[in-house]
Amino acid sequence: MGRIRVLPDQVANKIAAGEVVERPASVVKELLENSLDAGATRLCIDVESGGRRLLRIADDGCGMLRDDALLAFERHATSKLRDVKDLLSIATLGFRGEALPSIASVSRLLLETRAPEEATGTQIEIAGGKMLRCQEAALASGTVVTVRDLFYNVPARKKFLRSDQTELAHIASLATHYSLAHPGKTFELTDSGNSLLRATPVGSLRERVYQVFGSQAMDELIPLGACTRELRLPAPSVPPPEAIAEYRREPDEPASRTFRLTGFVSRPQVQKSNRNSIFIFVNRRLIRDRLLLHAISSAYHNLMPPACFPFALLFLECDCEEVDVNVHPSKTEVRFRHQSFVHDFVRDALRERLIESRPAPAFSPGQTSGLPEFDSSLPLPESGLRSPAPLPEFSLAPAPAPAPRFDFGAGGIPLDAAAPAPVRLRVPDTHGGFPPEALAASPSSLTALGDLRPLGQIHESFIIAAGRDGLWIVDQHVAHERILFEQVLRQRASGRVEMQSLLMPMVLQLTAEQQIQYARIAGELNAIGFETEPFGHRTLAIKAAPAAVGPADLEKLVYEILENADAESRGLSMDDLRRGLAASIACRAAIKINTRLDHKKMEWLLAALAATDCPMSCPHGRPIALQYSTREILKAFHRI
Ligand code: ADP
Ligand code: MG
Repeated sequence: MGRIRVLPDQVANKIAAGEVVERPASVVKELLENSLDAGATRLCIDVESGGRRLLRIADDGCGMLRDDALLAFERHATSKLRDVKDLLSIATLGFRGEALPSIASVSRLLLETRAPEEATGTQIEIAGGKMLRCQEAALASGTVVTVRDLFYNVPARKKFLRSDQTELAHIASLATHYSLAHPGKTFELTDSGNSLLRATPVGSLRERVYQVFGSQAMDELIPLGACTRELRLPAPSVPPPEAIAEYRREPDEPASRTFRLTGFVSRPQVQKSNRNSIFIFVNRRLIRDRLLLHAISSAYHNLMPPACFPFALLFLECDCEEVDVNVHPSKTEVRFRHQSFVHDFVRDALRERLIESRPAPAFSPGQTSGLPEFDSSLPLPESGLRSPAPLPEFSLAPAPAPAPRFDFGAGGIPLDAAAPAPVRLRVPDTHGGFPPEALAASPSSLTALGDLRPLGQIHESFIIAAGRDGLWIVDQHVAHERILFEQVLRQRASGRVEMQSLLMPMVLQLTAEQQIQYARIAGELNAIGFETEPFGHRTLAIKAAPAAVGPADLEKLVYEILENADAESRGLSMDDLRRGLAASIACRAAIKINTRLDHKKMEWLLAALAATDCPMSCPHGRPIALQYSTREILKAFHRI
């Protein structure tokens, strides 16, 4: 009895339909997913000419029975779904039964497959959707799909393909990221016989990240550990996903569900100019999801400049019932049943880890990030070179011309790559008398800030301080900005803001625009420490202001707040607005650069900074403290 069935119309019609074969990488994605669904532990991909001339994926999965192999090329033929109810809890990567027929209709395809329970295998050859041959053959168990001359019969589609290198880069990115989702499996990618990726089974995601991206990248990443959050399900059910209108929560469904998040995110100092370095897997399915991208950006809010993005590798696991994967033809988008719960869980989990780890940016001029840039304009590594390699963005649609790249410089990694090999001197004892922790290779934590001894200032702007783990430079303005920012938010949250009344109310003229913005934010403005009142036509009276702000800065501050509120008015949440106000107040009230500080003030500033939640960056995302570690100092003096 075969396993594959043609889905009845009533099921087929509920499936997000559409063309899934847009470029070679989309073929690779569908075939890799089939191999994973077939339980394969070894997945080998060979390509030639960026996948246009040849794409071959071989696996050691369950194979197909002879009758199934023929049926697999019918539209909506699948072994993964039976009825409408199955659509509610899709546990496999595929479910539409569309990939094989779609690929076979735009290429010359050879399927070679054998299920272990059958003695002989099956070979099927199809060109442009026409069956040319189907015969028995002696084959190893598992499946090999060879796709040649992709789009040979669809010239219009062929025209949209980019260079071989770009197409290959997309394939490499996919293969790499699927290998990250399955550390226990073997993934190999070769281009015309040259190995690009070779990942042998390892025991953990951490080892796989190391294997694929290298040790330098590892230093820039913060592991999330295993974060979980329980969702209490309300009864009766929340509105069902659109595609499955007849769904209602069953009485036997559990009262709560657990969401789990693991993976890695980059230190805030690793700043990418686009979202291409964010990889999100939901139940091990690689997806692009606006909701989760937004959650990630919110986690880095006020830790990174607004137009920058981190590197992230996230694995979200939840019950299949909690996520509808049947919303997009290429299955790259999902819809969560409890969107805001998932959003807040991911945001909070990331934020808590970022705050907890307080990573310190290293003072290492000229360094670039050890994490790969995912940019399709990058050439692939030299033939034969294995990962860690620059890999491109993940996209199944042909990419637009690459935008110019901005690089925000130093990431927190050791120096050794760029520096010339030091002349080794004999050091008297093992570490020149330095404690082993002083020689730690990985960047240290900002928790050390509390123990620093201030030595003085440079240009009356930067505090130089000595610590157990090296030399520190702290930007006094942004450090104070961070302290005040958190203080203002704390006071606002507790409803006890420190204010000072002005001797004379300050009267400001407003433009029509400013008047509108003022009306919109007046409530929040007053809650955060101002006392303001409209004072006749387009005039505003300020009677009191947050205690930290000096009267000289007040006028500028209010105009700035009204302007920022205007620029960002659309799509700004109450929380964003509050943070924006706090950032503006902190910036105006903070110690300026070119200000002399005595020893006591410097000590106070460092201690107060150490006590903040996020001493690593100012509310606008700039770094606050740089560390020149003892290890770097020893290296530079050729002592190690
Ligand atoms: P779907 O994956 O959505 O079911 P596909 O067109 O990709 O649809 O594949 C159709 C069917 O062919 C699958 O349901 C599966 O039974 C079978 N199949 C495809 N690829 C493999 C493979 N590598 N190993 C075993 N079976 C496979
Ligand atoms: Mg499939």
